[in-house]
Formats: sequence, structure tokens, C-alpha cells
Amino acid sequence: MFGRMQDQPLLISSLIEFAAQHHGDTEIVSRRVEGDLHRTTYRQAAARSRRVAHALDRLGLAFSDRVATLAWNGYRHFELYFGVSGSGRVLHTINPRLAPDQVAWIANHAEDQVLCFDLTFLPVIRAIWSKCTTVRHWIALCEADALPADTGIPGLRAYEEWIAGEADTYDWPSFDERSAAALCYTSGTTGNPKGALYSHRSTILHAYAGALPDTLCLSARDTILPVVPMFHVNAWGLPYCSAMTGAKLVFPGAALDGKSVYDLIEGEGVTMAAGVPTVWLGLLNHMAQGGLRFSSLKRTVIGGSACPPAMIRAFKDQYDVTVLHAWGMTEMSPLGTVCNLKLHQTKWSEEQQMEVLVKQGRAVYGVEMKIVDPQGRELPWDGRSSGDLLVRGPWVIGGYFKGEGGDPLVDGWFPTGDVAAIDPDGFMQITDRSKDVIKSGGEWISSIDVENVAMAHPSVAMAACIGVPHPKWDERPLLVVVRKPGAEVSRDELLSFYAGKVAKWQVPDDVAFVEAIPLGATGKMQKMKLREQFKDHRLPSA
Ligand code: ADP
Repeated sequence: MFGRMQDQPLLISSLIEFAAQHHGDTEIVSRRVEGDLHRTTYRQAAARSRRVAHALDRLGLAFSDRVATLAWNGYRHFELYFGVSGSGRVLHTINPRLAPDQVAWIANHAEDQVLCFDLTFLPVIRAIWSKCTTVRHWIALCEADALPADTGIPGLRAYEEWIAGEADTYDWPSFDERSAAALCYTSGTTGNPKGALYSHRSTILHAYAGALPDTLCLSARDTILPVVPMFHVNAWGLPYCSAMTGAKLVFPGAALDGKSVYDLIEGEGVTMAAGVPTVWLGLLNHMAQGGLRFSSLKRTVIGGSACPPAMIRAFKDQYDVTVLHAWGMTEMSPLGTVCNLKLHQTKWSEEQQMEVLVKQGRAVYGVEMKIVDPQGRELPWDGRSSGDLLVRGPWVIGGYFKGEGGDPLVDGWFPTGDVAAIDPDGFMQITDRSKDVIKSGGEWISSIDVENVAMAHPSVAMAACIGVPHPKWDERPLLVVVRKPGAEVSRDELLSFYAGKVAKWQVPDDVAFVEAIPLGATGKMQKMKLREQFKDHRLPSA
């Protein structure tokens, strides 16, 4: 027997219509590539996303055709989110930090028909347009008069001119909620990038879960600043969550330096911001230098790579801002866990609470997780046993776009490639990526633990720990460090800083000081490159 409910499909168009109807006057503020602040509302954004839908119809795009974006966080990108997916096409967000050839490779693999880009990326498009064999329409996200003459890109049009003549009303189509809505490629540290193809259903369920109090806790009283890019796993779902809750939205555009982010937070009364640790480093440095305070910010969601405990402490102790440490993956839409205390833990000492808050957190309802040993046997949730982390749920991929890489699932579970422990309260802690673990004499050393200690040193701006070959121990840890500008710290000083903080055999064997650590397209440290760079490094103990 089935339930007797209406079973309306969960479609992305319903989010923007809801926001327009119930939160029509709520603002969407964007710092534009031009440098100025642009203000619009959910009502206007909905009208313009309907125009986008008409304009796509006019181009003759079929259901499920891909429309790509190469764009910063801003209102036009937001309109495309709803106009493209809402009308039944697939929004393919491309990471502009990739090398131009990779952008072309991804656009071809996705068979993008339209590519919309911010003018910042005109040089990239100039370099690749002739290699993108499926793209028929190039749209620059600007006014017609901002479009440079003689770009050489055939048929290039300005977005504003493209949608100008279209109607503000649109009859959004209804279709199966499992239809594809958005496509995002994983950075792919090995092999070619692979696409995660989200559905309308997975996106809406993810947005419901994302808004929950113990997830990101979003409401119509919030002002949200997604610093995490809209080209990176849909800005962790925040554009959808914001439309669902009616929160005010603030988009930072291309200006992600500490000062710009701080000015936006203060100027717009931001209550909640989200981004990767590197962005917050810049913000905290800017604030420390100027002796600045926050007047509205209550919480920041930090994820994408491990948030150093020193950062959680700095936000809390110096600025009274709660850090929500979160973990997820492109393949998971991305939310998997968020770290929020349970009732009984609120009675614990601050020190005890901090031991919990540095973890990646508890599963969001909708995500099941388990840890297994190398033989696939499930490990206990005792907070000590660590093993490969597997997940499953309605917003976790079942396979990659076009079946690339074969069937990734193991008995229906998606292997995350992360190594984790789970405590009896269900708090998951990533100890490493499976390929970043340092294997020393049969024992595993967590590169994250080693990095966290270094990051707490006042002279250290960034630290990466990698394993380098060792004749006796197989591998031993090498700490690669970028010093803060003007700071002096020696190898021996740094190594003695480890005393009492980790077991003796986990202390790095050596320190290498570098000007910069290579970062990937999503701002994560590229340890593969470091391992390559230091593969012949001679450790003093070797
Ligand atoms: P995203 O950066 O949005 O999480 P990616 O697919 O680019 O998505 O990367 C996912 C990987 O990033 C995870 O498998 C994990 O290794 C790492 N990661 C994400 N969040 C965290 C976190 N809070 N702590 C440690 N590692 C994390």
C-alpha cells in the first residue's frame, strides 16, 4: 500500500519561487568583478532566472543539455543556478583555478553547449574557445557595453543583452525529481577529473538537511556569506539553502583577501560565513594586524580540509565566533558531518569541549557512515580504531558522470578515501587521506596531527607533513613550512615545539622551509607535488 500524498517532485525551480513569494524583498548583495557592490532581491533574482530559462529555450537547448559557468560568487551566477536547472538543463560549474587546458578538457567531457563566464576569465576563454568543440554559445556575465570589441570569440554575447528582451514570467516544467540538475568535477589528484552529477531530489534533500540547526543552522534572520565558491560543490549548497530559508545572501565576487572579506562582513551585517581554512587565515591576519572586531558574525563553517585547532580557538577566544568544523566531498554534495556539541557535552569543561570541536563532527541525517579495516571488517566506534571511511545516502553519488572509473561503490557504500575514527558519541575524526598517511615502521602517523601542532606555532603560516622514503622505517615524516612574513624560527626550535604534544616517534625527522606550498584548484595543499619535490630529501636519521 502506498501513502496517499501528493508526491510533488522536489524541483530546484520551487526554491526560487518560494524565495520570491515569501522573501521577495530580502536582499542579495554582490561585490562585482567591477569592484562595486550590487544589490538585488529574491524577487528580482527569480524574475531574471525566468528570463534565463526563456533565453535557453530560445537557443534550442534540450532537456539535460549542459550549461557551463566559469564564474565567481555573484547574483548572475545565482540566477543561472535556478534558470538552468529549473528549466531542466544541467548547470555545470567549472573551477576557473584549473589550468586552461583542463577547463577545455572538462567542458568537452561534459559536452557543454553554453559557457557563461565572468570577464575576469576572458583570457582563459580566448585561449581555449577553439578547443571546446561542443560549446555553441559564449556568454560574458556583464552589460553589453562592458564587452570588449574584437575578443575573437565567435558569437560572444553579453548576459544582460542576452536576457534583456525575455519575459519575467515562466512556466517551469515539471519532471522526475531524479533528473540531473548540476554537474561538478572533482579536482582529481590522480587520473582525469570525474563528474558528480547531482539530481533535483538530491539537491533539495541536501538543502533541507543543510539548514538544520545542528548542520549550518540557517534561518530568515541570517545573513550568509558563502566565501566557498559557487564553482566548488555549489558553494556547499548555500545558494539552495538560502532560498529555502529566506536568508539574506552576500556574495564576495573575486575579492577573497582578508580586508575585502572583513569589510563585507561588517558592511552587510553577516551572521554566518563559510569557507576553507586558507581564506580564514587571511581574515584572521588582517584582523590581528588592525586590532579589529566583528560586530555581527556569529559563526563560520570551516571545511574542505582540516581546520587547525588553533584557528577554532582564535575565532572563539579572540572574536567570540563559533567555528562549525564540517567535512564533506564533491561526491557527497558535499555535506557529510558537522561538529556541534550534544547536550551532555555542554556541561563539560572548555578543554574537554575543545577536544570534541576539533573533530569533523557528527553525521547529518541522510548520511550513514562506517569505518572498516583493510579486510573490509567494520571497526568499533571507540574513538581510537581508525580505518577507511565509507558513506551512503540520498545525496552521495552512485557512480560518476558517464560511468567514468567504473562502479566506485563497495557493497553499496562509497569509499571516501579518508581514514577516520568515530567516538562513542558518533563524532568522526579524519586522521588522514588514505594516500597521505605516513607509514613508519608499520605504524601510521597522521599527517594532519603533525601539521596541527606546527600550525599552533606563532611563526608558522602554513605547514604540510609528508612521508619521505627511509631505509629503516619505510617512511618518516618531513615537515614543510612556510614562515609568517618577518618571522624567524629554526628547524630545532620547531622540532622541540613538538615535545609532549605528540608521541616521540611521530615527531617529524626534519623541517624544510619553503616560500610557498603548492595549492590545488580548490585551495588544498598538493601533497603529491611536495612528495615529488622532496622525494630525494635526505633525512638526518637516514
Ligand atoms: P570539499 O573540498 O568540498 O570537501 P572535495 O571533493 O574537493 O570536496 O574534497 C573532499 C576531501 O577533502 C575529503 O575526502 C577530505 O579528504 C577533505 N576534507 C574535506 N573536509 C575536511 C575536513 N573538515 N577535515 C579534513 N579533511 C577534509
